[in-house]
Amino acid sequence: MPQPDKLQWRSDFGWSKNSPAGSANPRSGLVIHYDSSNQNLASKPHSACVAYWKRTRGFHTGPSRGWADIGYSWGCCSHGYVMEGRGLFKVQAAQPGGNSSHYSVTLMTGPKDEVTSAQINAVRQLREWLMEPASSISGKVLGHRDFIATSCPGDRAYKMVKDGTFTKKATWGKDTPSVPKPTQPTPAPAPKPKPPTSKAPSFPGPVLLQPPVRKSETARKWQARMRARGWVITVDGFYGPQSELVCRTFQSEKKLKRDGIVGPATWKAAWEEAIT
Ligand SMILES: [Zn+2]
Ligand SMILES: [Zn+2]
Repeated sequence: MPQPDKLQWRSDFGWSKNSPAGSANPRSGLVIHYDSSNQNLASKPHSACVAYWKRTRGFHTGPSRGWADIGYSWGCCSHGYVMEGRGLFKVQAAQPGGNSSHYSVTLMTGPKDEVTSAQINAVRQLREWLMEPASSISGKVLGHRDFIATSCPGDRAYKMVKDGTFTKKATWGKDTPSVPKPTQPTPAPAPKPKPPTSKAPSFPGPVLLQPPVRKSETARKWQARMRARGWVITVDGFYGPQSELVCRTFQSEKKLKRDGIVGPATWKAAWEEAIT
């Protein structure tokens, strides 16, 4: 599966690309959370979810909590967006006893808030994506209260955890393209044609793969080319999880071997394949 249809990265919220939290490789599954007070976000535009997400991070890193970052790995809002918190491969402050073994996702809902079908599908997409080789979680879905005595994730969502709602197959590509495209309108003065395809420069090597995340001029050049093709990718020369996901999605789009590794063939395709 590609990454979730509607995925917002940390950089979309103006946060550092990588969470300052410690590293982990949570593989045991996904834990559902909520907010103990009603947020009523389903009746508001998605910008209210973004504001909520930023506020939550402010609270978690502020004086009353003092954590390194927002506590959760992800959020899934009522509009069906998957929003990056600490993101992939990070320890969380979400479910003590499972902070480095499981990923966490909050529904951002309170006890009276509806869990929407778009939201359920976002959790399903997130789960299927995390089950892929890049992160390879078990696919098991738990609730916060499976770890400690808490009301979280609320009776409504916990019933869904128990009856297998979140582990059903997601639907994909219903209303947004499944490939990442720039989320922010670029201040282009005139409609610019997409960069033409051209002969690829010869592959300088070494092959790009991760982990561990390594910096190279090859990675920087490839990222710049992918960005010019319209992908959401940070051009910093570090070949990390975001670069790998772009690579995999591109590889499946172009019917290349989908291994998440930029070698000579994937490199060449980045210049010579049609931009779709
Ligand atoms: Zn919780
Ligand atoms: Zn939303």
